[in-house]
Amino acid sequence: MFLRVKKWTFPACYSFSMFFVAVLLMGAASLFGLAADAITHKENKIVQEIKFHPVYCFNKPTEKLIIRPDFIGCVIGEDEPLGESEIVEGTERPTDINPQVLARFHSAQAAAKEIGIEMSIDSGFRTTETQNYLYQRAIKEHKTAEEAKKWVLPSDLSRHPWGLALDVNLHHEKSGASWLEANGATFGLCRVYENEWWHFEPLTAPGGICPPLEPDASQVK
Ligand SMILES: [Zn+2]
Repeated sequence: MFLRVKKWTFPACYSFSMFFVAVLLMGAASLFGLAADAITHKENKIVQEIKFHPVYCFNKPTEKLIIRPDFIGCVIGEDEPLGESEIVEGTERPTDINPQVLARFHSAQAAAKEIGIEMSIDSGFRTTETQNYLYQRAIKEHKTAEEAKKWVLPSDLSRHPWGLALDVNLHHEKSGASWLEANGATFGLCRVYENEWWHFEPLTAPGGICPPLEPDASQVK
């Protein structure tokens, strides 16, 4: 009888102990979780918050743009990060503009619209075929390949087929591109060439510093 009781009570005690340990662990884990969340929250604190009347951003109405160390962009309910560095070529050829580049543009577009400046992407992603066609056309127009490369690069060198280059307001008001040149770094977009006021690439982190302008595209390798 004793043995049977002991056999019965030992697992019960064991179970209870395990339950107690589990409760303790869960408590510790939640405390740790709260602490971790507090640290994350502290690190991600909003550095700057710009509120404005509803504008379209990411194709949805939004009322504020937030800037904090890990994120800058329009807020629609959940954060849509713009990335933390320069955006570079991937491993596979894309079929459209890089989504994060587009997100950067939409954030900039929303901020510009707030002060009455309109921006549009007049040329963004191009297929390699289109890019090569434009390059061959430029050679005819400028007589030599060397001269043509100052304006249009072949598809293996251009960042348009990588979805990483935007020609902003090329067929619209130059003021939109001028605004982006002055403010684009906040969104990680930079004017690249002295001879092309319309051409922008994601050459820095949002809130970073854009590199100095290159004279033209002919030195791209
Ligand atoms: Zn361009």
